[in-house]
Order: sequence, then C-alpha cells, then structure tokens
Amino acid sequence: MSQVPSAPPVYDVNNIAGYEGTTDGDGGGRYFPPPPNSVPDRGDEPPPALRNWTIPAISEDEAQEALIQYVASKCCYGKAPAKEMMFQDLQSFNTYRYRLETFTESRSTVWKTEPYNGEIVDSYLCGAPPLPWDIIVDIPVMFTDQKKKIKVPHTSSVKGCPCCGCSGRRPCQKCRGLTRQQCWVCHGKGYRMNNERCTECLGTGTSMCDKCSGLGTTACSDCGGRGQLLSYIELQVVWKNNVFEYLADQRTGFPTELFKEVSGQKLFVDEQYMVYPVTGFPEGSINQASRNAIEQHKTQFGSTARILRERQTIELLFLTRVEYEWHRKSYSYFVYGNEHKVYAENYPRKCCCAIL
Ligand SMILES: [Zn+2]
Ligand SMILES: [Zn+2]
Ligand SMILES: [Zn+2]
Repeated sequence: MSQVPSAPPVYDVNNIAGYEGTTDGDGGGRYFPPPPNSVPDRGDEPPPALRNWTIPAISEDEAQEALIQYVASKCCYGKAPAKEMMFQDLQSFNTYRYRLETFTESRSTVWKTEPYNGEIVDSYLCGAPPLPWDIIVDIPVMFTDQKKKIKVPHTSSVKGCPCCGCSGRRPCQKCRGLTRQQCWVCHGKGYRMNNERCTECLGTGTSMCDKCSGLGTTACSDCGGRGQLLSYIELQVVWKNNVFEYLADQRTGFPTELFKEVSGQKLFVDEQYMVYPVTGFPEGSINQASRNAIEQHKTQFGSTARILRERQTIELLFLTRVEYEWHRKSYSYFVYGNEHKVYAENYPRKCCCAIL
C-alpha cells in the first residue's frame, strides 16, 4: 500500500462552512436557493410594441389539396369524395398559442468518493471553500436542459476504503477466496468417462481459479485497488427550460390537442432577463395567460432557482373549417397548422371496399 504524504484529516460531513447538511449519494443532495442579491435589476425595458395581427386565410385550392394529401395517406380511404367535392363554405377559426419559457439554474451538493491515485489533494488547507453560488460556472446554451458536475474547491480529503479495510483487495467472488475452482474437464471427479485419470487437473478435481489467478483475492472496485478514497463535495448544477403553454380555445369542436403537432406563425417574440406581461393583444385571454404565466413562474422558481432568462412567444395557429357537398350530402373537415394537416372525422369514404 502506498504512503500518502500530508493526507489531511477526514472531514466531518457537517463541518464545512456553507455546506452543512450535504449528504451522500445522488438524488438526496442539499439544494441551495440563490442568494437574494443575485437577481440583477430588471431595468425598465418596456415590452416591444405589438404589430398588426393580419390573419391570412387558406384558399379553396389549398384546402382541397390538403384533403387529397390526407386521403392519400390513409390506405383505406376512397379518393372520390376528395376529388369530386363541391365547396360550400370556408370558415377561419384561427387561434393563438402563448408560450412562456423560463430558463433557470439550480445548485445542489452531495458528498462523493472516487479511487485515490496519489494526486495532489485540494483540501481545506488550500483555503476556505467558496459558497455554492460563488463558484463561477459558465452558462451553456440558453433555453436548453443541461447538467454539470463540479468538485467544490478545497473540500477534498483522503480516507481509507471501508469496503476492503484499506487493503485494496477483496476475497475473490468466484472461488470465495479458496484460490481453486472445480475442474472444467472432469467436473470435479478427477477421472474421465473411461475411468482414466483427468489430465487437466491430474486427478485433483480442481484447477487454479482463473478470476483471481489463484490469489484468492481481487482488486477492490471501490478504491480501484489503492486502498484509499478521495472524498469531496460535488456541486451539481442543473439548467432547465420551464415551459408554460396556453391555447385560446375557439370552441369549434376541433380537438385542440392536435395543435401540439403543428407549428404556427410567430407573431410576437419577446426575450429578456424577465419579461413583462403582454398587454393590448386583441384576443384578451392571451393577455390574461401571459399575466398568469409570468406570475406563476416567478412564484414557482423565484426562490428555489436562479432565473437566467425568459422568452414569451405568441403564435397564430391556422384553423379553417371546410364545408362541402358530395352526392347531395354535406360534410366538413378542418385544415390546421402551417403544415396544412387535416382532421376529417366524417369523411364519407373511410373504407374503399364500400361500393356506391
Ligand atoms: Zn479434472
Ligand atoms: Zn478466485
Ligand atoms: Zn477498497
């Protein structure tokens, strides 16, 4: 076993100023709320002026093309109604999607150990450990979930490995420390089928354990065979993009969850440290949703995490109801999203086998 020069004493878990209550292992770490002075001044940047909200409509040709594409994607649907349809009415039910993204950073700590290989130990002798929020960590890409783990400076110490009693070796699991295993040729009998002596084990029925090469012990996996562990506090930084979404429901009978799979036209994007509620948008419920979302995220994350940036978006989502006639009967379908997807619940030919 190697001698460790000037190994500092093992820390008492509750002994490091500013890190009291840090526990072992993942998941149960101690969380640190950001210090109150960490919130920069929001400044007096007013929200950008809202533009005019012209609503583009879809043409009859586009609406029919969307239906033909949709029918073609369903192997069982008859194509005739889509091709022969007579338009009766095209109605816009365009709606809006509001989204607030609040990008936060949170910090927690846990005690960690790793095999000690003789490197220089960054212990308390090198200085007082910086407080969790004083450690400088570069902010990665905004509005993207990420994690980072950092050794807190000056919290390392070396201790004996408790799993192997500092010896670096543990009893071999295969031979249970006996150094020998059953002979694989004669299965321990010492002789073969014809009653001749087994040449592999020379009649002993055992051979050298191949796992431990006959030593009876293997290297301890906890300390990597060194008998010593480096113990330190790990700072875990988590960046998270928290999303609030609101959809103005026009109550048309269209299942609004289908909007999740399509994109809309961005009417308004506002990104800054902390955004102001949208006011003056023609659809009143969007103004209300913006107020609620900003308030909710402030309450939810303001005290537990550091808010790094916010972004609010209003999208116009296209929704057109098409009414048409086919063989003297009326039907309807919806075309929605930038992608011109179709929702046609009562399409007249859902099975091509039906002969008219
Ligand atoms: Zn044998
Ligand atoms: Zn063994
Ligand atoms: Zn060990």
